[in-house]
Amino acid sequence: MSNCLVCQGEVASSFGWDEFLGISKAEQVCESCEQAFQKISGKLCRICGRVWDEVPVENRHGDICFDCHRWESDDETAGMLKMNRSVFTYNDHMKEVLAQYKFRGDAILVDAFYKDFRQMYEKYFKKDSWMLVPIPLGTGRLYERGFNQSLLLAKLIAPIGFPELLAKTDSVKQSKKARQERLHQENPFYVIEPQKVRGKSILLIDDIYTTGTTIRMAAKILKEAGAGDISSLTLVRS
Ligand SMILES: [Zn+2]
Ligand SMILES: [Zn+2]
Repeated sequence: MSNCLVCQGEVASSFGWDEFLGISKAEQVCESCEQAFQKISGKLCRICGRVWDEVPVENRHGDICFDCHRWESDDETAGMLKMNRSVFTYNDHMKEVLAQYKFRGDAILVDAFYKDFRQMYEKYFKKDSWMLVPIPLGTGRLYERGFNQSLLLAKLIAPIGFPELLAKTDSVKQSKKARQERLHQENPFYVIEPQKVRGKSILLIDDIYTTGTTIRMAAKILKEAGAGDISSLTLVRS
């Protein structure tokens, strides 16, 4: 018996040779928590990964949603993000778990997403060679929280780690202005070693995709440093 990472309840473990040999991780989430997470599947917006059935017909532009159409209609942001894919919807259960993960500093919770996060990576991104770049936190925030949730997610895919290519300044405060205005503001991200991103396909990793502003700001800076295609893999799509 082990305990569920989310609710601490007991998990019936099915011990197998795989676990013994360290090939895969044992089941660490109980059945009811597992079922309360809602995985994203079916037809999606080609760019942002929003569930297509949830896009009203009048908001569809070919195979992309209204939001993506706006990003693609602006010269500043067109073509910046090739594809975002998210693993789970932002339902009440996920809101709670994510808050526990991020704000209550329960870093171990990331292991609860191991299997599904890796599966999504393998489905959409494994066949091409992407450089993983977790969305960084500013140093102030990192100090407060003690860990970067996006870095831990990226490590689910590449446990041995990867070079740190992107950083974030503390000075720029995200305002509640319209996202287009925000994107034209000072970009909080900067590339640490531009020579390492030149011509590379970059896969940004973050915990949540909401409006897509954060991902596109990071993508913009990386593109300016000479990166090739940029996609993102996020845990949750709100
Ligand atoms: Zn549980
Ligand atoms: Zn979209």
